Amino acid sequence: MGLLSQGSPLNWDESKKYADHVRKHGIIQFLNIYNKVKDRQRDVLKWGDEVEYMLVELDDKDEKVRLVLNGGDVLDTLQDQGENINPNHPTLWRPEYGSYMIEGTPGQPYGGTMSEFNTVEGNMGKRRREASSVLNQNETLCTITSFPRLGCPGFTKPEHRPTPVEKGASKSLFFPDEAINRHPRFSALTRNIRHRRGEKVAINVPIFKDKCTPFPFVEEFLEDDGEAARAALPDHIYMDAMGFGMGNCCLQVTFQACSIDEARYLYDQLATFCPIVMALSAASPFYRGYVSDIDCRWGVISASVDDRTQEERGLKPLKNNKYRIFKSRYDSIDSYLSSCGEKYNDIDLTIDKEVYEQLLSAGIDKLLAQHIAHLFIRDPIYVFKERIHLDDENEADHFENLQSTNWQTMRFKPPPPNSDIGWRVEFRPMEVQLTDFENAAYVVFVVLLTRVILSYKLDFLIPLSKVDENMKVAQMRNAVQEGMFYFRKDIFKGCNPVLDGTPSAQNGLETDGANEEYTLMSIDTIINGKEGVFQGLIPILNCYLENMEVDVDTRCTILNYLKLIKKRASGDLMTMAKWMREFVAKHPQYKQDSVITDKINYDLFRKCDRIAKGEEQCPELIGNPVNKFK
Ligand code: GLU
Ligand code: MG
Repeated sequence: MGLLSQGSPLNWDESKKYADHVRKHGIIQFLNIYNKVKDRQRDVLKWGDEVEYMLVELDDKDEKVRLVLNGGDVLDTLQDQGENINPNHPTLWRPEYGSYMIEGTPGQPYGGTMSEFNTVEGNMGKRRREASSVLNQNETLCTITSFPRLGCPGFTKPEHRPTPVEKGASKSLFFPDEAINRHPRFSALTRNIRHRRGEKVAINVPIFKDKCTPFPFVEEFLEDDGEAARAALPDHIYMDAMGFGMGNCCLQVTFQACSIDEARYLYDQLATFCPIVMALSAASPFYRGYVSDIDCRWGVISASVDDRTQEERGLKPLKNNKYRIFKSRYDSIDSYLSSCGEKYNDIDLTIDKEVYEQLLSAGIDKLLAQHIAHLFIRDPIYVFKERIHLDDENEADHFENLQSTNWQTMRFKPPPPNSDIGWRVEFRPMEVQLTDFENAAYVVFVVLLTRVILSYKLDFLIPLSKVDENMKVAQMRNAVQEGMFYFRKDIFKGCNPVLDGTPSAQNGLETDGANEEYTLMSIDTIINGKEGVFQGLIPILNCYLENMEVDVDTRCTILNYLKLIKKRASGDLMTMAKWMREFVAKHPQYKQDSVITDKINYDLFRKCDRIAKGEEQCPELIGNPVNKFK
């Protein structure tokens, strides 16, 4: 989840003394990079995926499933037997927030050829088998976005009770600090976010009101804890720790563009897809042992790292803070970066004016300057004691400090200093899927989208405030079937700064009702098309594929992936969120009270494990794929 240096993180009171220093040098570091590589062209298209995993123990005797807190050891073993001895090892492993999590990526990025789409699922399978092979008996590796009983009594192995004390990291009533990765960076983030905010983070997710769910839904512990009682909303599931958000698993894709302009164009175009693809990937309906009324993790993570003070959140007049800030550090993007995007930038953008002026006078254009100046309204959450005074020509830790703790739907990534890596963009909204087949399908779908966007010079831009409205809809229960999303009607009429530089005549922002450039569409229409409304992304991808040289085997693989996306969009197949809801609803122990017991959770994970390992079919979730990557 970001830069990982070794060192001793300072506490919040110490770190904040260096906030201006980090910002000042962060900008110098950014400018140094920019000036060296701004004109770099013709980097080749490369891309890679990141899958986050949780380690789980299936206890057949007690019929319980627990998160195993030994991600650190598993990671060491995997690195020792992989990348540390073989630079060409096909997998790479990285730490993640939870001490029960690890993250896996392919050993080398994928390139631009079509046949590489045929290797994605195989590599994911390798990762799953490799990591599974170092686990203890009864333990397994899951790609499930949110652990349904995260924060419930006894959810970890070994068992730890939460210790809600000031000196702890989370001070949580539910989430023990032992469930946080042991690398000091993660507890420092957790503690310093809480201290900067001035209180614990507060996450409230609406409860799903089933037939027997108590109404109003109020939990007993609230009477014993003043802070929780104040922060918890009625009829909501209350959570109070960073782990409830950052302890979830997702699926991300990073692209290297051929130039900075192409990266900026892709950043903008893909930003419009974030809510759509997130809704299609919905996989997290349960929180802290309850059935919720949302299907996606996004808002939960957003609240779980919200370090804004009451003043910054607009609850008190500004006195000690500089800005009113409208969103958490983990949220959707606030401005487009390409010249075509400029006129759709209709969100109130808080920026650091000094940084903005400094960037302009250094020759950076307005759009890029405001993007960076917006990221830099944040404080560094922590600073490493050993990494304060740096060589700004050759190091970029201060820039990365702020960059990597702005967790937005898209991330625009300048190359690291002195590397041969190009300008990159990261696509971050997707929830992780149960099987390698599904994860490969979502990844390939997004990569293919970038290909058609670039090849056909497509334009999906709509006002950014509409993308934000889409983000809200996307997280709602069953949004993929019921949600309506703003989407551009004519994607062939637009401007393309990379490829022709001239905005087309029709590109004016029309505001008069029926003549708007965008309209509300269902996900089915967006993906599969509807006569007279929109041609559909899958038909466009198919047309692209027909014009490409693709070997038969790869084509068959891709068609299977697109079939999954198509059927998820049409409702012929369920999302993981819907499937999990149905599993719980039908479970004999479920009392229609929105409670997920240990036994229900155990049975759910047993089934998920069999499906993920290919021991059981699940046609209602994934159809009957014929791809076999073993
Ligand atoms: N686990 C986080 C999520 O579910 C992402 C962390 C990261 O940026 O790698 O979105
Ligand atoms: Mg990650």
